[in-house]
Amino acid sequence: MKPKNELIEQREFHAILSSIADGVILTDRKGRIIHISSPAESMLNIEADEIVGKSISISTLIGKERQTKKGLVFCWEEKDCKEKSCPVYKRDNSRCWTVTDTCPNSVKQGVFRKKIRHCQTCEVFERNSKILEEPAVMLVKEVSISEPQNKVLQIKTNPIVDEEGNFLGLVRTLHDITLEREMSAMKDEFVSTVSHDFRIPLTSIKGYVDLILDGEAGEFNEMQKEFLTIVKQNSDRLISLINDFLDISRIESGKMNFNIKPENLKSLVQEVVNTFQKFIDEKKMEIDLKLSDKLPKVLVDHDRIIQVLNNLVSNAVKYTPPMGKVKVAVIKKKNYIVVSVSDTGVGISTKDQEKLFTKFYRVDSSLIKETGGSGLGLSICKTIIERHGGKIWVKSEENKGSTFSFSLPALKTEVKPQLIKQGMRILVVDDEPDISKLIQLYLEKEGYYVLKAFDGLKALEMAKKEHPDLITLDIMMGKVDGFEVLKKLKEDTHTASIPVIVLSVILDEKRGYRLGAADYLPKSVDKKKLIESINKIIGEKGQPEKEKRVLVVDDDRDIVSFIEFNLRKANFDVLKAYNGIEALKILKKQKPDIILLDLRMPEMDGYEVLGAIKKDKGLSGIPVIIMTAYDLDREKAEVLDLAVDKVSKPFSMRMLTSRIKETLGNDKGEEDG
Ligand code: ADP
Repeated sequence: MKPKNELIEQREFHAILSSIADGVILTDRKGRIIHISSPAESMLNIEADEIVGKSISISTLIGKERQTKKGLVFCWEEKDCKEKSCPVYKRDNSRCWTVTDTCPNSVKQGVFRKKIRHCQTCEVFERNSKILEEPAVMLVKEVSISEPQNKVLQIKTNPIVDEEGNFLGLVRTLHDITLEREMSAMKDEFVSTVSHDFRIPLTSIKGYVDLILDGEAGEFNEMQKEFLTIVKQNSDRLISLINDFLDISRIESGKMNFNIKPENLKSLVQEVVNTFQKFIDEKKMEIDLKLSDKLPKVLVDHDRIIQVLNNLVSNAVKYTPPMGKVKVAVIKKKNYIVVSVSDTGVGISTKDQEKLFTKFYRVDSSLIKETGGSGLGLSICKTIIERHGGKIWVKSEENKGSTFSFSLPALKTEVKPQLIKQGMRILVVDDEPDISKLIQLYLEKEGYYVLKAFDGLKALEMAKKEHPDLITLDIMMGKVDGFEVLKKLKEDTHTASIPVIVLSVILDEKRGYRLGAADYLPKSVDKKKLIESINKIIGEKGQPEKEKRVLVVDDDRDIVSFIEFNLRKANFDVLKAYNGIEALKILKKQKPDIILLDLRMPEMDGYEVLGAIKKDKGLSGIPVIIMTAYDLDREKAEVLDLAVDKVSKPFSMRMLTSRIKETLGNDKGEEDG
C-alpha cells in the first residue's frame, strides 16, 4: 500500500498550498521554481507562468517589484553563440544574452520586458543556476514592496529534506506584516505623545517640590518634610518609568541614538556613586570602590553609560537589606574595561538569572514586589552595552548577593589621565602627518587632549561634532585650504565660538585675523610661543563671566517662573516670553546671551522661532538650548541641529544651569541628570 501522503494528487496539493493565507514558493534542489501559490502570486504581483520552471532568486522577484513596473530584473551575461538561428543573435558582435540567477561580479544587471528571450542552443537557466547541495538553515528577512500596493513582507526560507536527509529544495513562506508594522509605528507615536503629556506637569511638580525642600518657600515642620519627600520620591519614580517606556519604544523602533565621545569610566562611576551616597547612608550600608589607576578611556555616550551605572547601583542598593555592602570595581581585562557592581543582597536563582535581561521580568518574590520597579532597566542596559560593542552578565547566589558586570572596548591611543588639563581638547588640523604628530606631542606634554584632522573637510566635520576647546589650523592643504576652513568655521553657529590659531608658512596675518583667527603664528612651529598663545586663549575662555542674560521661551507659565527663580539665584538676568511671537518681539529690542526655547507652543512654535533667529544675522550667533517634553530622537533633526544643546523635560535645574554655563564658556557646573 502507498504511504498516506502520496494519495494526494498534485492538483489537490496545489489547491491546499493556495488555501494557506501566507504565500508559498517551492524551488527544487537546483533552484528552479516548481510552484508558487495564488496568495504569493498576488503578493508579488506576478503570474506562475512567468516564473515556474525558471531559476529566479527571491531577491530578483522582490527586486522586480521594487525597481520596475514594466519588466523583470535579471542578471545577464553576454555569450558567444554558435547558433545562427538564435533569436537574440546580434549580427554586430555575435553574442546573445545569458540570464543567470547568481549574479557573479562579471555579470551585468538589466531590465527585461515580460518574457525573457533566450537562445535554445545556449540554454541558459540550467547552466548558470546555483545548485544547492547543502541543506540551508532557516533564513528570515523583511522586505518592502510598492507594487501592487505598499506592503511589508516577512519571508522565511526553509530547506526541504526527505526522511534520509537528502536535500530536495527550498520552501519559502511570505507573510504580510504590513498591519503589524503600521500598528508598531502608531504605538511609537502614541508612547511619544503620552509621555509628553506626562512630562509637562511633572516638570512643575518636581521643580516646585525641590524648591520647597530646599527651604526656598520658608520653614516647614518634620511631618510636612516627610510628606513632601514622599511626593518627590514618587514623582522621580514616575519620571524614571516614563523614561524607561520611551527607551523601550526607541529600541524597538531602532531610534536610540548615541553621542559617542572618549570618556573616563572611573569618573563616570564616581559621579554615579556620589548621587547614591545619601541612600547608602540612610540604609547604613557600606560602599567600597576599587578603581584601577591609569585606565584607558572608552568611546561611549556619557548619558547612556551613566544610565546603565545608575540602574546597576540603584538595584544593588534596592535589593540589599540595611547594613549590607556594595562594591563597584573598574578594571582593565585584555582590550576591555570591565565594570562590576556587587552586593550582599537577596541574590537571584540560576533559573531567574537566565531571564533577567528580558523586558518586564522581575523575580517573583514578595521582597522584590514590595520594592518599586518596572523590570525594564536591565533589558535597556543590555541594549545600551551591546550597542557600544560590549557585553553584560550576572553572577549570583540566592541570599548571598549578586555581581552585575559589563565590558566596553578600551581605547588604544591613551593619554595619561593626570595630564589632561581639565578635559581641554584641541583639534590639530594639518595635512602633514609628521608636523601634526609634533604638535600633538607638544600639546599632550602640556596636558591637552588632542584630536586630529588631516584635511579641511574632516576638520569642519570634527569641529561640528566634537566641539573642541581650540583649533590649530594649517593653511596650505589640498582641496579645501585653511582660509576656507576658517571662514566656514566662523560662519557656522555651532563652531563660530571655537578659537582658532593659524599655524602657517604663508604670512597673510591680515587675512587670517579678518576671517576671525584668534592668533596667527608662523611655521616652523615655535613650541614656547604656541603653548603661550593657547594658554592665554583658553585661560581667557575660563574667566568668570559677568552677569549673563537668558531669554526663557515656554508657553507653560509655571515652568517659566520656576526656571526664572532658579536662574536669578544663580546670578543670571532673565527675560521671559510665553510664545514665539513674544520671543521675537523681545529679540528686536534686547539681545540675550543665550535662549532657552520650548518647541511646542501655540501661535508660533519653537521651530519657527529657531528658523527666524538663524536667518537674522544680528541674532544667529546667540546660542539656543531646546527644552522639550517630546522624545528628542523624534523631533525634526535638521532643525534641532541649529541648536547648541537640547534638554528633555522634566530636567533638574542643577543640570540645566550647568548646561547653560557650559555653553556660555564658564566652568562646567556639577550635573545631576
Ligand atoms: P526593576 O529593578 O525596575 O524591577 P530591572 O530590569 O533593573 O528592573 O531588574 C529586573 C529584576 O532583576 C528585578 O526586579 C529584580 O528581581 C532582579 N534584580 C536586579 N538586580 C538585582 C540585584 N542586585 N539583586 C537581586 N535582584 C536583582
